Amino acid sequence: MAMKNSNEPSSAAGMGQDKAIFILKPMTVGAFADVAKVSAGEVILFLLRKGISCSRNQLLQEGVVADLARHYGFEVVKSPKISRDQDELVIEHEGGAQESRSPIVVVVGHVDHGKTTLLDYIRKTRVAQKEKGGITQHLGAYRVTTGRGDIVFLDTPGHEAFMRMRERGLKVADLAILMVAADDGIMPQTLEALNAAKAANVPIIVALNKVDKVDQKRIDMVKQQLAKYGLSLDEWGGDVICVPISAKEGTGVDKLLEMVHLQAEMLELKARVTGPGIGYVLETKLEKGRGTVATLILQHGIVRVGDFFVAGVATGKINVIMDSFGVLIKEVMPGNPVQIAGFDEMPQAGDIFRVITAAEYKERKSNRGKFPELTSFLPQAEDKNALVIMLKADTDSSKDALTKAIEKLAGQEKETINIIQAGVGAITESDVAFAATAHATIYGFGVKPEAYVQLEAKRLNVPVFSFYVIYHLLDDIKERIEKARKPEVVSKKVGEAVVRKVFDIKGEIIAGCYVKTGKFVRDGKVVVLRDGRKIGEAKIKTLQRERRSMKEVAAGYECAFIAEGLSDFQIEDTIECYQEVEVPKE
Ligand code: GDP
Repeated sequence: MAMKNSNEPSSAAGMGQDKAIFILKPMTVGAFADVAKVSAGEVILFLLRKGISCSRNQLLQEGVVADLARHYGFEVVKSPKISRDQDELVIEHEGGAQESRSPIVVVVGHVDHGKTTLLDYIRKTRVAQKEKGGITQHLGAYRVTTGRGDIVFLDTPGHEAFMRMRERGLKVADLAILMVAADDGIMPQTLEALNAAKAANVPIIVALNKVDKVDQKRIDMVKQQLAKYGLSLDEWGGDVICVPISAKEGTGVDKLLEMVHLQAEMLELKARVTGPGIGYVLETKLEKGRGTVATLILQHGIVRVGDFFVAGVATGKINVIMDSFGVLIKEVMPGNPVQIAGFDEMPQAGDIFRVITAAEYKERKSNRGKFPELTSFLPQAEDKNALVIMLKADTDSSKDALTKAIEKLAGQEKETINIIQAGVGAITESDVAFAATAHATIYGFGVKPEAYVQLEAKRLNVPVFSFYVIYHLLDDIKERIEKARKPEVVSKKVGEAVVRKVFDIKGEIIAGCYVKTGKFVRDGKVVVLRDGRKIGEAKIKTLQRERRSMKEVAAGYECAFIAEGLSDFQIEDTIECYQEVEVPKE
């Protein structure tokens, strides 16, 4: 029964006025009849005429389902499969009419090498001016028109998104422009970007930027540097194109765009132009009144207002599509960045966005029951010694419960806790970035950061803890405050002695020593050293001087001690005495 409606060829699945789309999969006769809105008897009869005898519950193979669907006037599309291939998510998109599409390009490179300047320059000079002055909506991508065709540029934070996608194995960009400032040459992030592009198998074009600042000698030097890192330039017989540019003055940018086209032509990029849309989420944000909005770049198919969709953990029904010019549109074709609203949860940048049927949407909804909502900002922490907390919970109610409980705890703990932000939804990279600047600890309740977010947290030194039981979370906070308050206990060397005699009294080995410096204390610990090597260490059990039990023995005196479980003493051994002392925390 689960499949009964899941193939419903409703207009909600991105279908429109032409033929309804049928997403192919094996299904029973009965299920097909339900979808096609015909009687099962009619289907059975049709199959009988083809020489296939079957019952209502017979499972039909894809080929037979495809024949049936075509017979009943559907346009048959294979369901988009997402398969894992060595950590790389590959989106298959067979079926449906294919058309060549514009390349999607990302600009990567070291900070300050001119990525933003180049993207700004291209946007200002190349974007078709629609109505009152070009792009008004920042969609994380924009489309550029050149004499040879269009190019889609992933805009800021394209660089970030690109890195993130590497972590997820996704491939949103077809080509990468590696910005290398000629004055700086190759820098750490240049290599990082280069490796990311290689890992994602994205071809590279090098833009040697800021040539207005350097002479030819310097340009040649950087080119040699590039070769050293395995980028063999085409002018030297290699396959990497390198275009000297000045993003600031615009020189060389035309040539760069031409090279992008040349490279892209070799890739023979195609898009399915019918059927349900599938693409990537580039950015997400919360907007007053509209909730979550996301920018998408569509790879295949069509997305229409009214379509149901899934994107990562989020689902929804599209109620608004807006293009780069701020114009509300009804549908969008592949390669066009748009902003959509209608999410019931927040997806993450890099998530795959996919149009689904109304039935699949319903099924997903009924399996979840969690409807996270916006993040609310609480006052910034002022007390530097306070435990600064950013809270991310799985539901609104757990967020409220936790916020109250933590605030109560804060009251008891005399305001040493500050919640700077409490929200619902996944722990994202932007949460980590925010926590890093606020010196906050992120507490997840019922939500765990994905691996790439954990990596980012590690990189930025942001502690992230996830819990599934409220009391465990509260206990952890309490413990952390206590720890923060309690002075640190450190082991400190307080004296040094030399072994003069070793006694064995009724099986107890006693070291008779002479205290050379400092003091020996009964509640201390001894470390035995022989020829500079550590032989053992133990707590002191008894400490004596002239057969009298002592609390401590000062330098210049003889002493004898028994140490717990320690018996290997030799004359001339050095004994160090350590005492635990409390050091107040800063
Ligand atoms: P990003 O961090 O890679 O995005 O770098 P930006 O685009 O912000 O550029 C960093 C700095 O380099 C800015 O001050 C730019 O004005 C400057 N810059 C960028 N491109 C050029 C260029 O071609 N020539 C010169 N002289 N300066 C440039």
